[in-house]
Amino acid sequence: MTNEIACRFCGGPTVPAFDAVDRNHRLSDHAFPYVACTACGTVSLAEVPDDLGRYYPASYYGMPESPDAAVARDDNAAHRLELVRSLVPAGGSLLEIGPATGGFIELARRAGYDVSAIELDAACCAFISDVLGIPVTQSDDPAAALSGQHDAIVMWHVIEHLSNPAATIAAAAAALAPGGTLIVIAPNPRSLQLRVLGGRWAHVDPPRHLALIAPEAIVAEGARHGLQPVHQTTADEDARRSNNFGWAGSFASFSTNGPARKVAGLAGEAVRLAVAPIERRGGRGASYTLALRRPSSPS
Ligand SMILES: [Zn+2]
Repeated sequence: MTNEIACRFCGGPTVPAFDAVDRNHRLSDHAFPYVACTACGTVSLAEVPDDLGRYYPASYYGMPESPDAAVARDDNAAHRLELVRSLVPAGGSLLEIGPATGGFIELARRAGYDVSAIELDAACCAFISDVLGIPVTQSDDPAAALSGQHDAIVMWHVIEHLSNPAATIAAAAAALAPGGTLIVIAPNPRSLQLRVLGGRWAHVDPPRHLALIAPEAIVAEGARHGLQPVHQTTADEDARRSNNFGWAGSFASFSTNGPARKVAGLAGEAVRLAVAPIERRGGRGASYTLALRRPSSPS
């Protein structure tokens, strides 16, 4: 049965997928319907609440006290920097969309990249600009804010929050220098975890995640704008961490009660260990890492 709701990524037809409540932050009991695109495989939030802002409480970020503290709190920054270094020579211009409190971008600056950022949150922008001394544009619409010619544009678990993700891919493609690379990490709607857990999957994170975009849909959109895939995996360090969070977080959220929550968390850990070998293969990991490159010269 198809319905009236268009895919938030490609505009294609959708079918109902599941309902999900905000188990991660418990800011309401509302069950948010999600729909699945029959064209591209993306899973979209059916309707964005008018009061979406209240699902990003002030506690969503908390400001670090120093640049060192910003780096220290981001335990993904080091392996993400290794990923970038494997794809983009140091010294290049690197733009991060959605850096939050800037741990990664500060580390990239220290590694020799010429860094800048686009960020939605005003307090994060003030920290990045005033404490880190990194140029930042405050905007909730990176597609409109993107400019310049960058050797790398990175989005770490950001594209699922955007209202116009395909337009953002197009704008990023236009803002890449020849030979430049767009790198995206995002929750994987092709994952084993989504198939098993549905709306209880911690990475659905309703209603903050507007679309869980299929990786091949991003590859196709990139191709329309001249980008070629150069790296794709669901089995790297980021995926491993997303797998762990997905099982542990999803099971723990089955109960709010302390002891039961702990038992559920342990059950999640047992499942995680049992299925780890399966999740590492066949594109089934909880998140994907995707790198798309603009050719050095027009072909
Ligand atoms: Zn679609």
